[in-house]
Amino acid sequence: MPSPRYWREIPNRFRLEAARCTGCGTVAFPARTICPKCRGRELESVRLSRHGKVVTSTVVRVAPDEFMMEAPYAMAVIETPEGARLMTQVVDCDPDTVGPGMEVDLVFRLIRKEDHGGILCYGHKAVPVGG
Ligand SMILES: [Zn+2]
Repeated sequence: MPSPRYWREIPNRFRLEAARCTGCGTVAFPARTICPKCRGRELESVRLSRHGKVVTSTVVRVAPDEFMMEAPYAMAVIETPEGARLMTQVVDCDPDTVGPGMEVDLVFRLIRKEDHGGILCYGHKAVPVGG
């Protein structure tokens, strides 16, 4: 860790860039080259808004070692106005209050500090709108 996958995904993580299929309109995040729905190859880049709604959520009470300090915390699938879905941690609130329909803003936060080499991993997290 960090894995090659992490480094490849940096542009997506930083810019919230997704891909919209010109054939069927599906928005995929992270961006990819083949539409996950219709297998079309004509996709255009789309910048997601830093806002969305919780679709489903769960409270993580027993976390992997590296996140143990933060448990319990809420993980949620957020849908942006563009129709893209991404899974993020919901922070700055009581995890038990997170549920479908909750409006959130996507913020850029430190996700974890690697044990070896002191490498910092950043990514998006969701915070409830209006506290
Ligand atoms: Zn498609």
